[in-house]
Amino acid sequence: MIIDSKKYNGACSCGHTHNMTTEFCVIEDGALNDFEKYINQASLSGRSVCVYDENTYEALAGVRPKADEEIILPSENLHADNHGVEMLSQKLSGEIGYLIAAGSGTVHDLVRYCASNLGVPFVSCPTAASVDGFCSSVAAMTWHGYKKTLTCVAPKIVVADLNVIKKAPFRLTKSGFGDIAGKYIALSDWKIGNILTGEYFCEKIYNMTKAATDAVIKSAPALKSGDLAAYSNLMYSLIMSGLAMQLLGNSRCASGAEHHISHLIEMQPEGLGVSSSALHGEKVGVGTLIAASFYHSQKNCSNWNDYPKITEPYTKKMFGEKLIDAIMKENENDACAGITKEQIIKNLSKIKSVINEIPTLDELMEIYISLDVKRSLSDIEASEDILPLILEFSPLVRNRLTFMRLLRAKGE
Ligand SMILES: [Zn+2]
Ligand SMILES: [Zn+2]
Repeated sequence: MIIDSKKYNGACSCGHTHNMTTEFCVIEDGALNDFEKYINQASLSGRSVCVYDENTYEALAGVRPKADEEIILPSENLHADNHGVEMLSQKLSGEIGYLIAAGSGTVHDLVRYCASNLGVPFVSCPTAASVDGFCSSVAAMTWHGYKKTLTCVAPKIVVADLNVIKKAPFRLTKSGFGDIAGKYIALSDWKIGNILTGEYFCEKIYNMTKAATDAVIKSAPALKSGDLAAYSNLMYSLIMSGLAMQLLGNSRCASGAEHHISHLIEMQPEGLGVSSSALHGEKVGVGTLIAASFYHSQKNCSNWNDYPKITEPYTKKMFGEKLIDAIMKENENDACAGITKEQIIKNLSKIKSVINEIPTLDELMEIYISLDVKRSLSDIEASEDILPLILEFSPLVRNRLTFMRLLRAKGE
């Protein structure tokens, strides 16, 4: 299938004019065989540099995209962080017409960042259905220990070869499933933000993300047997989520409380005492179950206070000396500031109906179990005992209105 993403551009009923960089996305068995054809179609020219990591260089043997230069980064300890960016930047030299990211989410984030710095376009060649970041314009990077969402550049085209993607380790596929399952929480948080504060909301972007998510949930069990249609659905959904972020210009439609849980674990604040080597989508997948379960259990809560201020001594207990300044700065203009008890109570029935659109824990668990997806804190190398800390502090990693954050105003 070819997604003609240009058709989503233009004036929208939400009042905004949407615009995205990505022109088209190919999701096909054997797509890389026609790589040059797609490069020509996109009118890309000049000296090309293709970036891999050692694993993806291996995985693409026989179908590597044609490029004037190949850069192969070490797979071990390669992360989307300031070290990774430094390493790639040092290797990029001479005139560059366009970059090619051939690999996972990490390779994509590093290339996206460098392409943005150099002011050149890039082509995305995902080698696994592992994250929704391939097609987005933002990169979630760890910058000197702090998880930051940086605005970079989106790919001009995406060439996703299902034949390669299907052969990727199944753990990566399950991670991509987790990243998609999280959209139910992210979309609900966005709608709740709109209900409570009149935050900007676009029905078209909401619907395209929701429809792609529903399709994955339906076909997910078939991923196990390597079903091509299920892989195509998952890849389509990961790409659509990225396109939705491009249309919106930020990650609101793709990242809510479930991602904040993942980011909190990744930041390893001293008060949490966790160091997890789980993949992004695995942490998001567990975050999704935690949020779904908690949201459904709290949707009938009727005892509320005015939303409380975030204070430094309280926050420091979790984040410590190393992260406290960044966290306080992030929350300076609290997205929930000024929300009163009355305001929450008045909107409770609307909030409840939004939460009712999230699958229940049992519904999600059935699919997680059938795919053997990581589903508990202990599965991602964290103690079950830290659940209360996660519920309390994860909203602080990103200043965004989520139901999890709003629950800080819950009465005793
Ligand atoms: Zn719109
Ligand atoms: Zn994600």
